[in-house]
Amino acid sequence: QRRAQDLFDEAEQDASFSVQEDLDHLEHKLRSAIARRELTVHFQPYFCVNSNKIAGYEALARWPQRDGSFIPPSIFIDVAEKTGQINELSALLFEIACKEAREWPSHLTLSFNISALQLHTEDFANDILTFVKQWDLPPERLELELTESKLVIEGKRACKALADLRDAGVRIALDDLGTGYSSFLRLSKMPVDKLKIDRHFIAECQEDHRVKKIVEAMISLGKGLGATIVAEGVETEEQLYIVQHMGCDIAQGFLLGTPRDAQHVNHDISYEASV
Ligand code: C2E
Ligand code: CA
Ligand code: CA
Ligand code: CA
Repeated sequence: QRRAQDLFDEAEQDASFSVQEDLDHLEHKLRSAIARRELTVHFQPYFCVNSNKIAGYEALARWPQRDGSFIPPSIFIDVAEKTGQINELSALLFEIACKEAREWPSHLTLSFNISALQLHTEDFANDILTFVKQWDLPPERLELELTESKLVIEGKRACKALADLRDAGVRIALDDLGTGYSSFLRLSKMPVDKLKIDRHFIAECQEDHRVKKIVEAMISLGKGLGATIVAEGVETEEQLYIVQHMGCDIAQGFLLGTPRDAQHVNHDISYEASV
């Protein structure tokens, strides 16, 4: 993962390297990678804080390179959005993720990231519901994560899409809560089942009294709206202890489990079932 990132960092520093050239190159490269189905999905578990059991897995896109490195999703999702490939890319990732998730024990949820752009495409809800049917995953086992920082849901179409999905049993999570373009007005209009508190808050909760107060307020706000609260980016035992005592329902982070390929996930699932 580091090697690809280094290349991009170097490229960014190299004044002779044009951003447009970079984008054109990646656009072309991504197009053929999608056609050849070279992208894949890793899964990161999230845990019910009280029972300490896995509640589900979040699908995270991975683009493996020949040298064994990965181009990070923060780069290629952005390219896909800018070059109009996001729907095609997402459909491929969704197929891979659903085909894995349908084999898991039925209490485990699949969380799948959706770009705000997709929410605005015509027939978004219908497409998702057609796909889950096609790939044999009950809609109740699917949760869509929307990133707040890119979220513009004022549009009637986007709101209708979310309502249609929820009617069909799909759950909606708001990702990276507390960053970006969040507004209470928006939250008051948007039906959500889950709120994911951004990892930057969790990282600073312990040292910074003001951050802790804000997290407490987010938790109480979320609970007031009837949402399940997730702490993202839990990396230490202390952080786990704190979020547990503040009343978070779900915890996710490197302390509890890193994103891993499907084979590792199946191994972990059978291990958990055996203990
Ligand atoms: P995200 O949805 O907020 O996903 C969580 C990111 O934080 C993942 O990075 C994950 O590996 C990382 N992470 C998890 N636990 C920890 C921790 O304890 N500490 C730290 N420092 N990081 C942790 P990743 O896989 O690089 O994904 C980055 C972003 O790319 C995601 O952020 C999401 O917004 C986007 N993304 C990934 N896959 C997809 C996809 O299939 N579709 C769309 N639209 N976006 C995706
Ligand atoms: Ca997410
Ligand atoms: Ca997040
Ligand atoms: Ca994030």
